[in-house]
Amino acid sequence: MNFETFNFHPRVMAGVQAVGYITPTPIQAKSIPPIMQGRDLIGLAQTGTGKTAAFVLPILQRLLQSPRGRVGALIISPTRELAEQTYETIDELGKQTGLRSIAIYGGVSMEQQTWRLRNGIEIIVACPGRLLDHLWKGTIDLSQLEVLVIDEADRMFDMGFLPDIRNILRCLLKPRQTLLFSATMPDDIRRLVQEILHDPVTVQIGHISPATTVSHTLYPVKQHRKTALLIELLRHTETESVLVFTRTKYRAARVAQQLAKAGYRATSLQGNMSQCQRQTALDGFRAGSFKVLVATDIAARGIDVLDISHVVNYDMPDSTDAYINRIGRTGRIGKTGTAFTFVTSEDTPMVHALEHLLNTPLEHRRLQNFDYAMPVPANRYIRSSQQLRQRAIRNERGGTKR
Ligand code: AMP
Repeated sequence: MNFETFNFHPRVMAGVQAVGYITPTPIQAKSIPPIMQGRDLIGLAQTGTGKTAAFVLPILQRLLQSPRGRVGALIISPTRELAEQTYETIDELGKQTGLRSIAIYGGVSMEQQTWRLRNGIEIIVACPGRLLDHLWKGTIDLSQLEVLVIDEADRMFDMGFLPDIRNILRCLLKPRQTLLFSATMPDDIRRLVQEILHDPVTVQIGHISPATTVSHTLYPVKQHRKTALLIELLRHTETESVLVFTRTKYRAARVAQQLAKAGYRATSLQGNMSQCQRQTALDGFRAGSFKVLVATDIAARGIDVLDISHVVNYDMPDSTDAYINRIGRTGRIGKTGTAFTFVTSEDTPMVHALEHLLNTPLEHRRLQNFDYAMPVPANRYIRSSQQLRQRAIRNERGGTKR
């Protein structure tokens, strides 16, 4: 199959050619035809499958035939990073269409967004909080909306955005075409789907399980030896870009500092940073000037960097869904990836859950000549996973919502 099959308008095809896509990915092959027929759709796919172009291309095709100067498509994203990346994809693929798009999120001037909206926009990519601000102020008119996309719905739910989504939905007129993408299907998302999608087609890619292109290894280690182990692992492993996940913002910043001190080009991405700092970190990681990015789950959501060879779970994720989302950053289209997970004694139940999910026992590895037994430094207080988890939930919600 190739992109000619979809019979896109030459201006849309020009975008496909400009970015160099040759063969549609499985989610694109399965989703584009029903979306172009105007069907509602549930796309069960994680980041890295090509899901963004799967909805962007049919949107461009549809809006080419609609009047200009009114918002025809709205894409709701959980994080600013994902909103920016989706906006960039629209910009690249839609260059020849003349359609105008904007990314709307908090932390930057609302006036500037309002000014651009007033000058005519056809496609909006928005995070829920700032979108609601605009809707309440009357600076966004969605009365002519044709297509609504709810992207990464499971993450939206994790971040507590579901009430915001419902408020946004109240501002929209029906009927419209609704597309919902999610890596997993928690009950609340299932309920939302039943309420807002009409006779949807479901497209599931690679089952809801981790990419088969990723190898998984566990490294048992005590909490206080994790950073030293990470440094040793990086020293002994050939890597391209490496994405390290911690449970808290504070820890992400600290681990990045420790890596930088050890001579690695490392930075962090976490909710305590300004929008400008986040963008600098992300751009540097994308361009390869930072080889290691240490991030929290929420900040890393949707990171689209193709050369991530290794994902390191410095802290065990909270759920198997979070594990899937994390490792979805490696083993991207046509590549293989490696996931290293540090495990402490508290993580045993999650290890069992992962083995159940992957349907195989996971390899436990020990690094030779590494001092696993070094005692905890004096005066160092080590928080339990439970304490960290509670703190992470409290902090991240406050830090990234707007
Ligand atoms: P996504 O899952 O939308 O985040 O896409 C992951 C990456 O795959 C992005 O860097 C896209 O540019 C790339 N991509 C999307 N579709 C294709 C395709 N048909 N062929 C090659 N790369 C693609």
